[in-house]
Amino acid sequence: MHHDIINLLLLEDNPADERLVREMLAEWGDSRFKLTHVKTLSQAISSLNSLDIDVCLMDLNLPDSQGLGALSEIITIAPQLPIVVLSGQADEDLAFEAVQKGAQDYIVKGQGDGVLLIRALRYAIERKRTERRLAYLAEYDPLTDLPNRTLFKRRLNRALTRADRNNSIIGLLFLDLDHFKDINDTLGHDAGDELLIIAGARIQTCVRKGDTIARLGGDEFTVILENVGNKKKAAKVAQKIIDCLSEPLEVAGQEVYITTSIGIACYPDNCDNAEDLIKHADMALYAAKAKGRSGYEYYRKKMKIAVSQRMNMVNRLRKAIESDELELYYQPQFNIANGSLIGTEALLRWHHPRMGLLAPDQFIHLLEETGLIIPVGEWVLNKACLQNQAWMDSGYGQLRVSVNLSTRQFKQNELVNTISRVLEASHMDPTCLHLEVTESLLMENIDCATKIIQKLAETGVNLSLDDFGTGYSSLSYLKTIPVTALKVDRSFIQDVCNDSDGAAMVAAIIRLAHSLRLKVVAEGVEEKNQLVFLAAQGCDEAQGFLFNTPMSATDMTQWLHQQYSSEDLRKTIN
Ligand code: C2E
Ligand code: MG
Ligand code: MG
Repeated sequence: MHHDIINLLLLEDNPADERLVREMLAEWGDSRFKLTHVKTLSQAISSLNSLDIDVCLMDLNLPDSQGLGALSEIITIAPQLPIVVLSGQADEDLAFEAVQKGAQDYIVKGQGDGVLLIRALRYAIERKRTERRLAYLAEYDPLTDLPNRTLFKRRLNRALTRADRNNSIIGLLFLDLDHFKDINDTLGHDAGDELLIIAGARIQTCVRKGDTIARLGGDEFTVILENVGNKKKAAKVAQKIIDCLSEPLEVAGQEVYITTSIGIACYPDNCDNAEDLIKHADMALYAAKAKGRSGYEYYRKKMKIAVSQRMNMVNRLRKAIESDELELYYQPQFNIANGSLIGTEALLRWHHPRMGLLAPDQFIHLLEETGLIIPVGEWVLNKACLQNQAWMDSGYGQLRVSVNLSTRQFKQNELVNTISRVLEASHMDPTCLHLEVTESLLMENIDCATKIIQKLAETGVNLSLDDFGTGYSSLSYLKTIPVTALKVDRSFIQDVCNDSDGAAMVAAIIRLAHSLRLKVVAEGVEEKNQLVFLAAQGCDEAQGFLFNTPMSATDMTQWLHQQYSSEDLRKTIN
C-alpha cells in the first residue's frame, strides 16, 4: 500500500478545521491521500455508498448528528471501514469512548502535526485489516477454511433452537482420521496438512449444502446434520463419509489410504442441550475407535461409564492440595534484545498417584467446572510469589513471576483481595507479579472485565494478554484496558518460518502492539530461526523450549545458580 492512493473521507463541518487537515496533509508533502470532503452525516453516507473509501476521519459534532450517533451510523453502513475521530480538546473523553465503540483511533485538534495525523490514519487502516484477519481466525480454521470450534458451537446452538421449534432431529457426527499421526510422522507435516484439506473437501461432498462441517483441531472433524429425520439416516451419511474418505488419495506425490471412525449422537435423544450432545458424540467416537477402526457407532447410555471415571478424578483433585500432589513448574522468560532473564511463568502440575505427572490441559477444566480453581488458584498465586521472592532474596536479581488466571478466578469478587493478601504474605513488590488473562476471558464481558482489570492495575500488578490471536478481540479495546503486554500465541510463532502469511501476521501484531505501547512476548519459541525473526521484528520477550522447558522449583533454582546469562542467549541468537 506504500504507493497506492488512499481515499480519505473527511467528515468535518467546520471550515477552519477542514483547512487545518488539508494543511497537515500537505505539510507532509505526501500526495497519497486523496481527500473527499463532506460536511454532514448524510453526505458522508452517500459518499460511502458511491465511492471506494479506505479510511474516514470524522468530527463528532455535525449539523445533522451529535456525538457517538454519527459514528454508529457509519459503522453500521461500513463495518469494515477504518475510522479516526477528530475531536476538540473539550470532548476528548467522548473521543475515547468512540474508540471503545469501534473507532480505531482519535486525534485531538490542535495537537500534533501532519506526521501524527498520517500515522494515525495509516495505523487505523492496518489495525482494521489485522482485526479482520483475527476475526476470521477466531471463527475459521485457516488450513481447511472450515469453521473452527467456536463457530461450530455457535452453529450447533442455533441448530438446536431450530430443532426445538420445528420438532426436528439433529444428527451430530464426530470424525477422527485413523492413524493420521502415522502419516504426519512418516510423510511430514505438509503432507498431513494436505491430507486434512482433502479430507475436509471430501466430507463436504457427502452432506447437504446447509450442513456445517467444522474442524475442531488436529484430525478431528464434526458435522451437524440438521433435520436428519432419524438415527438411521444420520448413519447413512456417516457411512457415505467413511466410504468417500477410504478412496485412495494423493499427498506429497504418494498414494495414501486413510480410514475414518465416526461417533453419532442425535438430538433430542437422551439429551437436551448442546454440551451433552457433544459429549455423547465424543463418547460414541471413542467407542467406534475402541471397537476397531473404520466404522461408526451410535451413542448408547452405557457409554456414560466413562463419565464416572471423570468423577473419580474430581474427587481426587479435591484432596490434591492437602495431599501435596500439586506442584508449580517455572519457565524462564527472556529479554530478546539483550538476552537477560526477566522472570518466569508459573505452570501448574498435578502428581496423580496412578496417572503420574499431569499437565494443566488434563485437569484445569475440571478445576474450573467444580469451582476448585478458586482455592487452587490462590494456592498457585501464593506459592509463585513466595518462590519468586525467595529467588530475589537469594540474590538472583529483580525477577518477575507470571501467573495464569482462569475465567472463574477472574470473575470472582474476592480476586483483588486475594492478590493483596498474597503480595503481603510474600513481601513481594506488586510490580513483580504479572497476571496472565486470555482474550476470550476479556471479551466475554468487556465492560465488566475492564473494571476488574482497572482495580487490579491499581494494586500495582501487571497484566498480560495470554494466547493472543486465538480468540478475537478488537484491537481497539487494547487502548482502553491497562494491560502491559501481549503474549502472541504459540500457534502464530510456529508459523513464522513456514508460511509468509504467518510471518506477516506476527509482524503486524508486534507493530500494532508497539503503537499501543504494549510489550510483546512470544510464547512457544522452539527454533532458532523463529527467534531470529522475532528479534528482527523488535519483539520484546520470548519464552519457549528453545531456551528451556518448564522446570520444578528445585531445578529452576539450580539453573539460576548456574547463571544462564546473557552470553548464553547471545550465543543462541548468533
Ligand atoms: P499458557 O499460559 O499459554 O502456557 C504456556 C504453555 O506452553 C505451557 O504448557 C508450556 O509448557 C508450553 N510451552 C512453553 N514453551 C513451549 C514451546 O516451545 N513449545 C510448545 N509446544 N509448548 C511450550 P502447560 O504447562 O501444559 O500449560 C498449559 C496451559 O494451562 C497454560 O497455557 C495455561 O493456560 C494453563 N495453566 C497453567 N498453569 C495454570 C494455573 O496455575 N492456573 C490456570 N488457571 N491455568 C494454568
Ligand atoms: Mg500463560
Ligand atoms: Mg499462552
